[in-house]
Amino acid sequence: MFKKPIINMCLILMLPTFTAACNAPEQPSNDSKNPEETPAHSESDPTDREEFTEIPNESLQKKDSGEKVKQLQLALNEVGYELNPSGDYDETTTWAITDFQLQHDTLLASGIYDEPTKQQLEQLIENKDVIKSGEGLPLKAEPAFTNSGTEIIANPYDQLGLINKEHALPEDYIPEDLVIPDVPFPFAEDLPKKQMRQAAAAALEELFQAAEEAELELFAQSGYRSYERQDSIFAANVQAHGEEAANNFSARPGESEHQSGLTMDVTSPAVDFDLVIEFGETEEGKWIKENAADYGFIIRYPEGKEDITIYQFEPWHLRYVGVKAAKEIMSQAITLEEYLEADK
Ligand SMILES: [Zn+2]
Repeated sequence: MFKKPIINMCLILMLPTFTAACNAPEQPSNDSKNPEETPAHSESDPTDREEFTEIPNESLQKKDSGEKVKQLQLALNEVGYELNPSGDYDETTTWAITDFQLQHDTLLASGIYDEPTKQQLEQLIENKDVIKSGEGLPLKAEPAFTNSGTEIIANPYDQLGLINKEHALPEDYIPEDLVIPDVPFPFAEDLPKKQMRQAAAAALEELFQAAEEAELELFAQSGYRSYERQDSIFAANVQAHGEEAANNFSARPGESEHQSGLTMDVTSPAVDFDLVIEFGETEEGKWIKENAADYGFIIRYPEGKEDITIYQFEPWHLRYVGVKAAKEIMSQAITLEEYLEADK
């Protein structure tokens, strides 16, 4: 266990009467009674006085902002991070949460500040423990690129991660929490493609349960796909159709969302279990479009957004992003690209 820096101990124990003792000698005391000293305060760096007071109770995630996010950032700093308490749940905050989750076996790594993460963080603060930041997910200083020049994303665990033709997963990334969701598949063998990450699999089971209650026949066709499998699929597609055409309906290795374990292609008997555009016109396809967001899924490659996603319309390809983001994306009829890049 690493020693907590003395200044942080000071912040935790800080009481009004002890404030002067904790401040550096050259700084004016925060509880000064002399109003003439006020102008000097406004000139000093405001971050010097940021104090952790309360761990947020609500779930927080990328794109959130405000006082709760600032309190989360300060809470993370209490346990060993050095975040700027900006109040914006940015990429660095997402990294810190993911890194924290990866250092605790009981937590699922998602980059989302959820209830289990809150409880773990709260416990560390109570025990005045610190962790070594970056031990779970090293913070990369420089971006890396694939052989074809695509930027490799630094946080493959991020539930709101953008994986596309400009953002690839690392070649060696295999999700650690892959499970087979208990839903119907049109084949019996336990193939790797039945798998999804745990949170996505649980959400898919709920989605399929609701579809069954609506008397629909939904089937899961293809979920997780390894880097190596995608490599051979893309090579075969290039062989058959040429590279340019292949890139329009297939992904280069690393650039497929299926490697994230957060996606599932779904289908129905009405289209002979195929993955075809006609699925969108089936009862199952229409129901999916209306209801997927309630379970945290989006139609990742919507109709009319081909110039943004650089994929043809795929009414069958579901991506798990969690209910909050899914509802915003589907109700606004936007893509994940537009959602993540808005108000940046
Ligand atoms: Zn797909």
